[in-house]
Amino acid sequence: MPLIGFDNSYTRLPAHFFADAEAAGASEPWMFAFNDTLAAELGLDAEALKRNGAAIFSGNEKPDGAANVALAYAGHQFGHFVPQLGDGRAMLLGEVTAPDGRHFDIQLKGSGPTRFSRNGDGRAAIGPVMREYLVSEAMHALGIPTTRALAAVTTGDPVYRERVQPGAVLARVAASHIRVGTFQYLAARGDNEGVRQLADHVIARHYPEVSESDDRYFDLYQAIAARQAALIARWMGVGFIHGVMNTDNMAVSGETIDFGPCAFMDTYTAKKVFSSIDRNGRYAYANQPAIGQWNLARLAECLLPHFTGGEEQAIEKANAALTHYGEVFQAQWLKVMRAKLGLVREKDDDLKMVQSFLGLMEEGGADFSLAFLRLAAAAGGPTADRELRGEFSAPDAAQLWLDGWRLYTAGDGVDPAERQRLMRAVNPAFIPRNHRIEEAIRAAEFDGDFSLFEALHKVLARPYEDQPGHERYQAAPLAHEEVPRTFCGT
Ligand code: AMP
Ligand code: MG
Repeated sequence: MPLIGFDNSYTRLPAHFFADAEAAGASEPWMFAFNDTLAAELGLDAEALKRNGAAIFSGNEKPDGAANVALAYAGHQFGHFVPQLGDGRAMLLGEVTAPDGRHFDIQLKGSGPTRFSRNGDGRAAIGPVMREYLVSEAMHALGIPTTRALAAVTTGDPVYRERVQPGAVLARVAASHIRVGTFQYLAARGDNEGVRQLADHVIARHYPEVSESDDRYFDLYQAIAARQAALIARWMGVGFIHGVMNTDNMAVSGETIDFGPCAFMDTYTAKKVFSSIDRNGRYAYANQPAIGQWNLARLAECLLPHFTGGEEQAIEKANAALTHYGEVFQAQWLKVMRAKLGLVREKDDDLKMVQSFLGLMEEGGADFSLAFLRLAAAAGGPTADRELRGEFSAPDAAQLWLDGWRLYTAGDGVDPAERQRLMRAVNPAFIPRNHRIEEAIRAAEFDGDFSLFEALHKVLARPYEDQPGHERYQAAPLAHEEVPRTFCGT
């Protein structure tokens, strides 16, 4: 029996959708993380993989049946179209079907140059690999659709960035690696037939519910937009800033993908940006829903020729779908925020309550996650009010708001303990705080010490639970601990 039961479908698509790839090989591979739980979910032989993990996930050993291809894609990077990007430092190892019937890609990221590397070295450094491992798994534990991390290895080879860093490879699992940019790659070449074939592939794999429709490509488009709206609403609810929402970093499956300079906010600032290269704040926290819409407009441009009706009608339909995206996002976002605020029964002024709390947080310099967590505590009764006040620079204003919130929610028939339970289930106590990620990376990179990585990973696996003894992972950074900038590290 092969070690991994691959059933590759992407390589049955036309040959220009991808290019054969080969791993560069690692001189001294060492596996520092392996995701047993995910391996089991995928129906893989965890023990056998663990024994061979360093060789397989570094790319040194090609498992039987592996695809080893780099996917072609294009993309708008910061608004500028680049007709050819593609997997420049990654290759699709292959696809697997989990015991529950779901289909997944396994990709090696950082395994060496491909036909799409342009001037890049095809490598990944340990920092970005650790960051993606931690944040993608934290995202999953938070219940938000995301690619996953199956394993991570160091290669024993240096990579040259702003400084020399240890090289590493991430074995990433995704529903698929098809991006808005994948459609753009074909459309930009005038390959309408290719766009149609890709769309059919995406329908079969991710949206079988539209396969029988008379206007399937338009329905597909709407379904992709709806998942994107729901995804970004979930990001907003946990203070996640993707950082580089280029069209090549938006997966049509609706999963969070390509964790480059991403970070979770500490202090709430609507315009917050972490990425060192996002100088104009294009991908700031509050801009994410609008950028989602912009990216979806680019996807519409690719799919338009396949919508039923003439060109004019197709454009009208796309415009209506984009407006609808805005409405779906707004509804999803309000649903997320309502739950966070414990507004269990829908009322007319829910949106005002949400907005006033966000305004209060921004003015009071409150930590995004802790403010909601303290509010959940206060739902249990006024003895916890003091802690909420303590998160705000103007405690009296916070108390005033809290009194108003109590009045607003009183009489909805939900008892305090129940409201608190509901709020705790949606307001994480633990998020992957940037300073803790950096701390874990530094210890691994400079001292070869992965204990902080492991501790952090373990805490983040149970984000909604109290974890006594792990307060350091819950606390907001002190001024001198704050890590305000993140880097792509590519
Ligand atoms: P990103 O936005 O970081 O996901 O990457 C944008 C594009 O740059 C993708 O086509 C990547 O494959 C490519 N890229 C990033 N880093 C490297 C690298 N070190 N070597 C080759 N290509 C890279
Ligand atoms: Mg990318």
